[in-house]
Amino acid sequence: MSVWDTLFSEELRRTEARGHLRALSGASLAPHGRIRRNDREFIDFSSNDYLGLSQHPALIARASEWSVRMGTGAGASRLVTGTSDAHLALEKKIAAFKQTESALLFATGWQANAAVLPALLKALPEAAVFTDKLIHNSLHHGCAAAGVRQIRFRHNDYDHLEKLLEERGANTSARMIITESVFSMDGDVADLERLSAIAKAHDAFLLVDEAHATGVLGPGGAGLSAALPDGVDLVMGTFSKAMGSFGAYVAGSERLCAYLINTCGGFIYSTAPPPAVLGAIDAALDIVPGMESERTKLASLGTRLRDGLAGLGIHTGASSTQIVPAIIGEPRDALRVSESLAQRGLLATAIRPPTVPANTSRLRLALRATHEPADIDQLVAAIAECL
Ligand SMILES: *Cc1c(COP(=O)(O)O)cnc(C)c1O
Repeated sequence: MSVWDTLFSEELRRTEARGHLRALSGASLAPHGRIRRNDREFIDFSSNDYLGLSQHPALIARASEWSVRMGTGAGASRLVTGTSDAHLALEKKIAAFKQTESALLFATGWQANAAVLPALLKALPEAAVFTDKLIHNSLHHGCAAAGVRQIRFRHNDYDHLEKLLEERGANTSARMIITESVFSMDGDVADLERLSAIAKAHDAFLLVDEAHATGVLGPGGAGLSAALPDGVDLVMGTFSKAMGSFGAYVAGSERLCAYLINTCGGFIYSTAPPPAVLGAIDAALDIVPGMESERTKLASLGTRLRDGLAGLGIHTGASSTQIVPAIIGEPRDALRVSESLAQRGLLATAIRPPTVPANTSRLRLALRATHEPADIDQLVAAIAECL
């Protein structure tokens, strides 16, 4: 072991002592809301493939076709030679889907958030940045990279946000508000109409992360911001969840996108997304607006699960979407229930602090339109047995 490995081992031992050590294990998504892991098949309540599109023949076909036609790599970053006609056409299609003037592709959602915030905040020096307490790690990373100290408002508490805007935002040169539209660990939604009104009243820039809403909520599955044209200044989202493949977008005004093309390091210095990824996204954008029956089914599976858990006396917080937290409380209890469910052929990951607040360790249950009501009933019955 090198001297470096000794240092890594010491840190890993400390992580293990806190009960937080993690390791990777192989799995592969299967049809009907199933997943295979260690040669066993489970009903999967842990993946974000909400519409089951990762296994859809149309996405697979177009990803393959575009690879055969254009190759496996874009060859360079976007401003050099990496922009193909397919990139430009796809960005137009994303903007039409999101009902914005323009859109840009990014390699991943994490990269988009981490890179866009420092670029934006360069144009808003000394801005006061107001963030929902539960925003994603990538948004924290973006704020840190921009060197700003977040002013955090209580989760979805807009009275608190307004109070902070008045106290801390009045004498600053600019203000920015950052939230998600569907929260990844709680499955509850932001009130974008109210947020947009608050942002306008306080001259604040509003940035919304639609990672878990894209494909699932809003008109034609275009996310909650699509119901509010001009209500949100910058929307980002990912193609890696309900959209079934990979990559991400940032959507907003033409001037905003032109600014990012000229200033955003994560866009400028990263190789353009490859044809297979573009093909899968293109096919998903053709199909998703018409998947209204899948979205209706997904919503009713969510209601069925929340009702079932309520019958067991388990709290699901303010969840109203395809993400349903079964709040257990103590980390070791959540882990024990998750392990007993796995023995029964059900995969439901336990989420513990620091990812969620103390005493709210939970199973994060993520539903798929390819689940059946019987799968939900089986899950609720198994949770009842495990408690
Ligand atoms: C998953 C997620 C991201 C990151 O998107 P990727 O494309 O997976 O990198 C960003 N924000 C939120 C809220 C997410 O849940």
